[in-house]
Amino acid sequence: MDKIRMNPIVEIDGDEMTRVIWKMIKEELLEPYVALNTEYYDLGIQKRDETDDQITVDAAEAIKKYHVGVKCATITPNAQRVEEFGLKKMWPSPNGTIRAALDGTVFRAAILTSRIKPYIRTWKKPITVARHAYADVYKATEYRVPGPGKAELLFTPADGGPEVRQTIYDYECPGVLQGTYNKDSSICSFARACCEYALSVGQDLWFSTKDTISKQYDQTFKLLFQKIYEEEYKEKFKKAGITYFYTLIDDAVARVVRSEGGFVWALKNYDGDVMSDMISTAFGSLAMMTSCLVSPDGNFEYEAAHGTVTRHYHRYLQGESTSTNPIATIFAWTGALNKRGELDGNAALCTFAKKLEAAALATIESGVMTKDLAEISEGDDVRCVDTAEFLRAIRAQYEAL
Ligand code: NAP
Ligand code: MG
Repeated sequence: MDKIRMNPIVEIDGDEMTRVIWKMIKEELLEPYVALNTEYYDLGIQKRDETDDQITVDAAEAIKKYHVGVKCATITPNAQRVEEFGLKKMWPSPNGTIRAALDGTVFRAAILTSRIKPYIRTWKKPITVARHAYADVYKATEYRVPGPGKAELLFTPADGGPEVRQTIYDYECPGVLQGTYNKDSSICSFARACCEYALSVGQDLWFSTKDTISKQYDQTFKLLFQKIYEEEYKEKFKKAGITYFYTLIDDAVARVVRSEGGFVWALKNYDGDVMSDMISTAFGSLAMMTSCLVSPDGNFEYEAAHGTVTRHYHRYLQGESTSTNPIATIFAWTGALNKRGELDGNAALCTFAKKLEAAALATIESGVMTKDLAEISEGDDVRCVDTAEFLRAIRAQYEAL
């Protein structure tokens, strides 16, 4: 049988258990069927250290060139990791570096199976959370007010225009004070990335802020989002049969809980941080969560939302077989291959990606699954297997479809 041919994508290898699984997935599920064409970047912690993290920058540049990438989970070094690997320094998070280089927004969505019931009964389709991962409270300037005194907001224009000064509060006792900011350029990039993503998955886009209370700050988010949508995406949305919907965040939360899912929910930085954890937990399992980084000019990077699963890796190094769930990593690959196929009109590649996803889900539906899922699965016919056996079962399903 001829293998499916493809144009290149960027392959970004990573660390620990996910690095082991990465190789297994390629050998068992991809290479037998696809003439994999990838530009390979090793972002394993040793290679990042060896290259003074240049490899991460190069990988991000490659995604801009080929427009599609797939990434394995990587270690974000902390003090303990610096010691463990004898690193030259505490290199920054690769995901942070790549996100900054692509000016990207992260979209997180759960992979659903009938075996794992969401805690919210009405949810039937995934809810994708898009978090604006720039500034706001994460880059705030904070001050512990020691006692009575006046706090002011002062803006000094760079062009020498008059200063703008407003009283925030006249303190009569100790208190707290915080200054947060954001930029039009970043908000517009966020809006574009969200519109691009909604189009690419063919789902409605929701956006919510607290603009009734925050009449300048949140109102600006609302207006810029609306403007980008009206001027650049309205027609495309109409053609795709999807809608853009703005509502106050309180209303959005109530609607999300009552909904059946199947939309993209764009949120400001803090709201997205909190809501993405709530949504992913309510859908059941971190190991079933995919993550896609989208840049406003249409570059896509796919990965699992979970980390390198260090605890399992240490057992693997002891020679134990582990029951680590490869689903999110498989879906990172199928997401990237499907996107490559879409961009190039390569129907065979898209069909392969969809069929492999269906086979992976059918395997779980049949009762064969890894330990993390077995623990929360419905049904009394569950068979818990290790990663290698699970991948073989998926391959058998694929062959049978
Ligand atoms: P983690 O790797 O996501 O694992 C936390 C725990 O969640 C695991 O110990 C395991 O629980 C469970 N788990 C996660 N993924 C699983 C899977 N596929 N199958 C089965 N169980 C799974 O998070 P972490 O231990 O906090 O972080 C480990 C390393 O990953 C850190 O160095 C961190 O910097 C990095 N990290 C990278 C990314 C990324 O590259 N996107 C994201 C997050 C963390 P049990 O042990 O109870 O089975
Ligand atoms: Mg969080």
